[in-house]
Amino acid sequence: MTALENASGFNTRAVHAGQSFEPRTGAVVPPVHFSSTYAQDGIGGLRDGYEYGRGGNPTRDALQLQLAALEGGRHAFSFASGLAAEDALIRALLVPGDHIVLGNDAYGGTYRLISRVLGGWGVGHTVVDMADLESVAAAVAAQQTRFVWVETPSNPMMKVTDIAGLAAVAHDAGALLVVDNTFASPYLQNPLALGADIVVHSTTKYIGGHSDVIGGAVVLNDDELAGKVGFVQFAVGAVSSPMDAFLTTRGLKTLGVRMDRHSANAQAVAEWLAGRSGVETVYYPGLPDHPGHELAAKQMRGFGGMVSVSFTGGEAAARKVAESTKVFTLAESLGGIESLVNYPSEMTHASVKGTELAVPENLIRLSVGIEDAADLIADLDQAFGQL
Ligand SMILES: *Cc1c(COP(=O)(O)O)cnc(C)c1O
Repeated sequence: MTALENASGFNTRAVHAGQSFEPRTGAVVPPVHFSSTYAQDGIGGLRDGYEYGRGGNPTRDALQLQLAALEGGRHAFSFASGLAAEDALIRALLVPGDHIVLGNDAYGGTYRLISRVLGGWGVGHTVVDMADLESVAAAVAAQQTRFVWVETPSNPMMKVTDIAGLAAVAHDAGALLVVDNTFASPYLQNPLALGADIVVHSTTKYIGGHSDVIGGAVVLNDDELAGKVGFVQFAVGAVSSPMDAFLTTRGLKTLGVRMDRHSANAQAVAEWLAGRSGVETVYYPGLPDHPGHELAAKQMRGFGGMVSVSFTGGEAAARKVAESTKVFTLAESLGGIESLVNYPSEMTHASVKGTELAVPENLIRLSVGIEDAADLIADLDQAFGQL
């Protein structure tokens, strides 16, 4: 190791953590280790601890070191998807009868996992507005709550929650605070430093950053809890493949420069939208009149690349704009270098339609990419022209 895991600068850690050149050839980029198994020097004689690929793989280990270094955590575990990471975390640390308090605009897949998969296993849940710390405290006190689970900024309503305040509420009740940091990415926000106990990521989004790999991660400090998560990762085996781990590491090296551009472009797009006729509300924490603006400025390093917008022309206007853009591709997901437009109520959030997590039907969500802001705005302008 180059010991650059502890470098003070985020971008230095992003480029170097877990990445030391290969000793035999000097290859600057460590080779991707595809081998599923490892030769032993006599029975039990392992080289560097590697035995079998589900239990350990050097390419995955490099990614895990990099993720831990960037979130400021002691332990990171990478998984085949964000939801696989969440599932492993919950099964590792909760037992049937335990309870989760979840934000009322959680990612639809997280809600589906907790309500329909883990609910069947015996884990209960209550859905609350995370911005309202009093109702969180009441919900936590009413049950055997083990996790308070929050996304900030949230998807797609861009609500900003006070991580430090929520950590205090969770800890007062003996619960742990889990932050899904997918939207912000570790470059813009480090929940562990703000008092959270556990961070989860869909690395599919900003961390991978190029819309070409599915993955997830759990990052935490506590050694005992980490041991349990590591055990489930090994015992269940929803691990990142070597190629997925390599692609994710490669993406993560440029996270800082990408997030700076995503944030600048999103700010420009949000400001342009805010002045348009036909627009009801622009949801972007970088706008001074966003209710979470000051809090976001305090707990984040920038406001990120996600912008939602609702239309006075209702569902029809939202659908028309979503189907009329040319630079923004109509597609699910987010966080890649290319701009995407999504109609949440029928796409990303279709699974929560009709539930307490349902999203407005006059809303579209933009994942603002790293193209030129002028081209993005011109594209939205021509799409608005179709209204
Ligand atoms: C996409 C996403 C997930 C799920 O991750 P997958 O990699 O799709 O399994 C979880 N949380 C948030 C906020 C997401 O955007």
